[in-house]
Amino acid sequence: MSSHFDAVHQRLRAEVAAATRILVAEGILDYSGHVSTRLPGGETFLIQTGLDSRAELRPERLLVVDYEGKVVQGEGNVPAELALHLEVLKARPDVESVLHCHMELAIAFTMMKGVKLHLMRARAVRWESGIPTHPDPSHIKLPEQGAALARSLGAHHALLMRGHGLTLVAESVPALLVDAVHFQENAQAMMQVLQSGAEPEPLTADELVQINKHEMRAFHIGKLWNYYVLQGIQQKVVPPDWGLSGT
Ligand SMILES: [Zn+2]
Repeated sequence: MSSHFDAVHQRLRAEVAAATRILVAEGILDYSGHVSTRLPGGETFLIQTGLDSRAELRPERLLVVDYEGKVVQGEGNVPAELALHLEVLKARPDVESVLHCHMELAIAFTMMKGVKLHLMRARAVRWESGIPTHPDPSHIKLPEQGAALARSLGAHHALLMRGHGLTLVAESVPALLVDAVHFQENAQAMMQVLQSGAEPEPLTADELVQINKHEMRAFHIGKLWNYYVLQGIQQKVVPPDWGLSGT
């Protein structure tokens, strides 16, 4: 492995571990769920073990897994829902990172008759293409289940899973963290409207066009990643010596 590849590999390990801990702190991950991300070279990706605590995940504990699902580096067993990550990464060459979590607010929108999660807040423009719901409520353990889930996701960036959870995909680990925060904010906003008894008034097609005109995704992701990493360090969620501060 060249020193450049090694440096990228180490950075990705720190990003996955930090994002996982921050997502726990934000109430988006808990005792289960996981973040995966591709490694340079195109043959492997990083994912945590099934057993390691999401709240105390360490970069060196992450497993290197190939696209057959075989662990090529690291100790411990892959998560039970590895097939979800594996099949989405195989089906979506445009995606670098995958989050699977059991966000309560996301699950709520798979359990309300006649209610669909709409785009309410400006940042939800990310899911303009649609937020489908995967009909299989069971854990995604088998390759064929993972492939079916990847088909439900299609070319979209978010997939609700009936009575189970959420899958998000993005171009990087920081982008995935930011998307997860905004997904939760948007679901919260719609739930507040429903709970108030009012009728939701989602963003219109014209409004989405306006939002897209001013969208600065890369800048926004950098800003929020910096905020969450620094806050994580301050609150002792993320160790300060992982080389992530001041990014
Ligand atoms: Zn799950």
